[in-house]
Amino acid sequence: MGSEIALGRAFDRDRGMLALRKLAPEPGIALCEVPEPAAPGPDDVVVAVTAAGICGTDLHIADWTAGYAAMAQAMPVTMGHEFAGRVARLGEGVSDLRRGDRVVIRPSVVCGQCERCCTGQAEDCVTRRGIGIMRDGGFAALACVPAENCVPVPDALTDALAALTEPMTVSAEAVDTAGVRQGDSVLIIGPGTIGQGIALFTEAAGADRIVIAGHDDAARLATLRDMGFADTLDTVGTSLRKGLERAGLPLSYDRIIEAAGVPALVGEALDLLALRGVLTICGIHAKPAAVDLTILVRRHQQIRGSYRAPLATWPRVLGYLAAHGARVSHMITEEVALAEAPAAFARAKSRSASKIMLRP
Ligand SMILES: [Zn+2]
Ligand SMILES: [Zn+2]
Repeated sequence: MGSEIALGRAFDRDRGMLALRKLAPEPGIALCEVPEPAAPGPDDVVVAVTAAGICGTDLHIADWTAGYAAMAQAMPVTMGHEFAGRVARLGEGVSDLRRGDRVVIRPSVVCGQCERCCTGQAEDCVTRRGIGIMRDGGFAALACVPAENCVPVPDALTDALAALTEPMTVSAEAVDTAGVRQGDSVLIIGPGTIGQGIALFTEAAGADRIVIAGHDDAARLATLRDMGFADTLDTVGTSLRKGLERAGLPLSYDRIIEAAGVPALVGEALDLLALRGVLTICGIHAKPAAVDLTILVRRHQQIRGSYRAPLATWPRVLGYLAAHGARVSHMITEEVALAEAPAAFARAKSRSASKIMLRP
């Protein structure tokens, strides 16, 4: 069997492998030859990575923008936190996985020692370490990860679609946090992978009207139209309100979900929020946002934050991906070899591509 041969190579510890790494706390990334992972610890597995997505976080880490200073202590470190693969080696204490199992990796490793971890609230661990950020990740042929971070992948799912699971759980959590209801009108700000996933789960939640806005983002808005979302808006050269007005789209929404990370848009979004509406923020904002809270109070509105999804969301999202593979596959605009990663990063940064999958 072909996969046996591929897995067999993983046992040759004298060989090196290509890895995309962050070497120092300054702008830049490097393709390096590194040794293959050592034998896994008792509760770890070594995964042969089949697909790993480049995400906005990776672009920020590459450019070394504010917010990732803690990563310096882990360098040099192999990046990549959105990946799928096959189990290649098992630690001696691992009983619920087998060699060859297809898995997707939850990138957040909990400490098992803090008060939250010790009281059954590991989801809220205060000292979690991100795979691909604080420890070696999936931009390499092999990655060593805790077995408990592996989630089984349904047979119906391709490797590239499986590697979309992590960002799609972030999208699902945003829609859950927003409390999207049957018949709602929903405005989504930010047409990247997270926004695209939010559009899909907003539709699945029964929203009546879904509008997605981006700024100078033609390619990713086109991806959304390819997925069947007709109401897209590019606000280049105009404001959100004026753009909606010009396009004949609604100027009031029950739910607005922000996935752009642009502080100035928070006030613009509140201005378009219905009475008792909910604005959910899931973009990472480099600076504080100014909002008129008196209007928020008088209109009885809410602002909510949304971030990482709980474990229970993962199988649900994997099931969604398996059932809607053809439609979701529009989100993946390129699959390229790991050796071509630097050029792929440049294309991702220019937003000419939606999700780019690296094949280590
Ligand atoms: Zn990501
Ligand atoms: Zn903990």
